[in-house]
Amino acid sequence: MSRGDMAKPLLGHRSMEGDSSSTPAAGRTIGVLGSGDFARSLAIRLVCSGFKVVVGSRNPKRKANLFPSAAEVTFQAEAVKKTDVVFVAVFREHYSTLCDLADVLAGKILVDVSNNTEINHHKESNAEYLASLFPACTVVKGFNVLSAWTLQSGARDGNKQVLLCSNNQEAKRTVAEIAQVMGFTPVDMGCMSSACEIENIPLRLLPAWKIPIFLSLGLFLCFFTYNLIRQVIHPYVREQKNKLYKIPIEVVNTTLPCVAYVMLSLVYLPGVVAACSQLYYGTKYRRFPDWLDQWLQHRKQIGLLSFFCAALHAVYSLCLPMRRSHRYQLIEMAVKQAVEKKMNIWVEEEVWRMEIYLSVGIIALGLLSLLAITSLPSIANSLNWREFSFIQSTLGFIALVISTLHTLTYGWSRAFDENQYKFYLPPTYTLTLLVPCTVIIAKVIFILPCIQQRLLRIRRGWEKGRYVKFVLPSATGEFSSGETSSNV
Ligand code: NAP
Repeated sequence: MSRGDMAKPLLGHRSMEGDSSSTPAAGRTIGVLGSGDFARSLAIRLVCSGFKVVVGSRNPKRKANLFPSAAEVTFQAEAVKKTDVVFVAVFREHYSTLCDLADVLAGKILVDVSNNTEINHHKESNAEYLASLFPACTVVKGFNVLSAWTLQSGARDGNKQVLLCSNNQEAKRTVAEIAQVMGFTPVDMGCMSSACEIENIPLRLLPAWKIPIFLSLGLFLCFFTYNLIRQVIHPYVREQKNKLYKIPIEVVNTTLPCVAYVMLSLVYLPGVVAACSQLYYGTKYRRFPDWLDQWLQHRKQIGLLSFFCAALHAVYSLCLPMRRSHRYQLIEMAVKQAVEKKMNIWVEEEVWRMEIYLSVGIIALGLLSLLAITSLPSIANSLNWREFSFIQSTLGFIALVISTLHTLTYGWSRAFDENQYKFYLPPTYTLTLLVPCTVIIAKVIFILPCIQQRLLRIRRGWEKGRYVKFVLPSATGEFSSGETSSNV
């Protein structure tokens, strides 16, 4: 979340659960204008929650059989007369066709559930536009963040939050009570000026994932090009050998672990940078720069993308022996061996290298799976702070160390073989080691008692240049990951 976003109210913030009045909303009559998908799902949910529902349609006879029998379907004006809370389940462009109902709607609460097709599509929000058309009504914006599907499947199976805003507190409270009886969590987003923001929420596409996805795509592109030059272009230029067949599996499979490994180290690098900044300035009260804040906020998504690439690498690797090219190569080797009358091609060192390489790879993937599972909100919520930090920080760091062993056993002595330097380019794995090794070395330095003690004191509030009587707690395991400060 950027600093700009932090100024806005958080979802879940100012939940209205405690605000409901003692009068139960269930049992009252609720009006719904429109008979489309949203109106139908809303009516079903309202009926299931114990409300009486009256639906206003331009053509009630044709639409009646689409609604539960407990809901009354009638003409718009008739429906509106029977209730004082009306959900307007009609698109914005049709609001003006409701103007004939202005007299019967006067004094009633209108709930605007509409969404737009584009972010900031209109100058004024749909709810403000509705309020301008019906000045004698009180408009409440809400329910638009729920899909028709969520309404039908019930609050257990989807998003539970209903964001509400209105200039009238009483009307907002009434709609909040209705939402609560329906099993949703009303969230007060303030006055009508928030309507635009509420209308933009369903249109946002994975806002927290944009930076991590671009980062992983960028890394993928760089490593893919590098591997392509080494594995396909080099043999063509030097030996006129066509190795294009390697692109779909081999080149992709050497690129994926590079991305997974570097992304995993990028989860832990901002913690190291933050710790260095705290050590340098001798305080934890100095704000991190925006880019570091953003990076810290996106660690979960970066870690999950790392796991995704690692899982794909595992599947690709399992498929390697299935390839036709691999079978031809095996037969070719066997024939060559027979021609050369070689009986034993067993290379002890190679056997051990491969056994260790696969074993540590499997362990690293297992640990990454654990990290991914525990980052799911439902699992994370069931862990206390110590358990969560142990898994995400300590086990996560162990996963990075084991991934480094996996990479080193893959490379073995290739870094010292000059044939591996295609066009003078070093093997890809040597490049991937740079960032993870920096993180590991930094973490090891932070464990040194003199550094650890100083960092621990800073994170307990000590500041350079200020005299504060400070008693160091006896706990020593507190800083195991560099991520215990308030901001990190
Ligand atoms: P829909 O299926 O097209 O239904 C719209 C309804 O508007 C029609 O069934 C129609 O009912 C009524 N209507 C009234 N005056 C109209 C006119 N002049 N021309 C055309 N129709 C008119 O749309 P919807 O999916 O239910 O969406 C309704 C509202 O809910 C929209 O504002 C949408 O943004 C919002 N919403 C929908 C969803 C969703 O998942 N579908 C989610 C969140 C918000 P009668 O013919 O019976 O009058």
